[in-house]
Amino acid sequence: MSEEPDSVLLCSVNTAAVPRHELLCIFGTGDLGRSLGQRLLQCGYKVVYGSRRPGSCGSLPAGTQALSHEAAAQHAHLIFICVQREHYDFMEPLAPQLKGKVLVDVSNNLKKNMYTDANAEYLQRLIPGAHVVKAFNTLSAWALQNGPADANRQVYLCGNNAEAKQAVAEIATKMGFSVLDRGSLSAARELEDFPLQLFPGWRLPIRLTIGLTASFFFYLLLRDVLYSYIAQQKDMSFRIMVSLANKVFPIVSLILLSLCYLPGIIAAFLQLYRGTKYKRFPDWLDRWMLCRKQLGLLALAFASLHVLYTLIISFRYYVRFRLAAHTISQIRENKTSPFDTTMAWRTDTYYSMGIIGFGFYLLLGISSLPSVSNALSWREFSFIQSKLGYITLFFCTFHTYLYGWDRFLYPSTYKWFTPPGYMLSLVVPTVVLLLKLLLLLPCVDRSLTRIRQGWERTDPEEESMKSLLR
Ligand code: NAP
Repeated sequence: MSEEPDSVLLCSVNTAAVPRHELLCIFGTGDLGRSLGQRLLQCGYKVVYGSRRPGSCGSLPAGTQALSHEAAAQHAHLIFICVQREHYDFMEPLAPQLKGKVLVDVSNNLKKNMYTDANAEYLQRLIPGAHVVKAFNTLSAWALQNGPADANRQVYLCGNNAEAKQAVAEIATKMGFSVLDRGSLSAARELEDFPLQLFPGWRLPIRLTIGLTASFFFYLLLRDVLYSYIAQQKDMSFRIMVSLANKVFPIVSLILLSLCYLPGIIAAFLQLYRGTKYKRFPDWLDRWMLCRKQLGLLALAFASLHVLYTLIISFRYYVRFRLAAHTISQIRENKTSPFDTTMAWRTDTYYSMGIIGFGFYLLLGISSLPSVSNALSWREFSFIQSKLGYITLFFCTFHTYLYGWDRFLYPSTYKWFTPPGYMLSLVVPTVVLLLKLLLLLPCVDRSLTRIRQGWERTDPEEESMKSLLR
């Protein structure tokens, strides 16, 4: 969803232009050095290792050899530095030999801001005559060995010399990675921080989900368990495990799903109000928009839990007991309940809406997988995520309305004067759907489309001032 906007895809590289059996050098025979060497060999390069102990560095990929750093660097134009930054000073005496060569810095640090400068900038200072390129540090040794997969097929690089960057980009492309140029070496710190980030886009959605889940859990605990205990002297604590969980999950899921669409609606109204699309959205709205995918996936996870919990309802001891007790009491009293067609329609529609809604939910989730979204055109992707998204929200909201049906009319619904959880969960989706309907009105839709095509509303006062100044 949030593709790096400032990254530039290097023009496709003609891999046939890469000289066959080009010799590449790798300093360091550790995990990354070995994996990289293995992969480079598979791609048709010749590899030589530079090592402190060339005679005793263990088994290396077949077809490679280990030499001293100096000897290894001699014939290769491009050297991968697969050594921790702490040991870079061993290269200082090699500066004359490394002059004019491309040094690929693959290093990472254990934590952010460990050093005042980036590792690649430090390397450039140590060997000023070399062309340092920061690259490959966002890939693990494992990913390098196994080749690119969807989640890790990008190689970010940066450096001050365009030719050096192009040489590294050619190698990465030949290895099957797509290359994203992040600019000059001053971007190295940013690249070095990438692997240290722990689910950066997930923090806000996870916090929100935990907050919503905890709030609704305690709210429903109060209404469904404590109320029964205090007001009716009944111990209903067993409901915590299934009944309560199966109320909290759909409630949180529906709210999260509507929160995926609310920022888009707010953005549309902001654009209409401002009469332009060229003014930046507030930061909070930007951040909210960037985590819509995560919100959607969490919503899907909670909807899936709701489905699983619903499937076990008929096996529950409590449900079987209530059913048997009801049947026996009817037999005892010689009573039969007439078939209620309205009730049959209501429950069937309720289940049907839920199933269709969940089906669309799954489609939304599948289409957000990188392997699927990469295969879709932008139009197809936005159709699924937007149009299908609203349809999913509609079905799930309708499903919840059918669950409530006419319960809102009965005073017994409002235990301790509090509305039931499902009623609260309907607030945000209903608002989102109503606002969306408003945006779909032809006159509103027309204005919004014009604004999104670049039209700007001009302020008559501002215009007259401008014409006076002209
Ligand atoms: P490693 O397994 O510890 O290997 C580092 C290699 O550096 C050693 O095998 C050694 O090779 C050489 N070395 C150690 N001390 C040295 C010294 N004092 N002077 C000169 N050379 C020395 O580390 P690694 O996992 O391969 O990582 C290497 C670099 O790649 C690190 O900067 C790391 O941040 C980066 N990286 C690693 C991964 C990963 O998945 N492992 C992923 C991304 C980036 P010789 O004995 O042959 O000299």
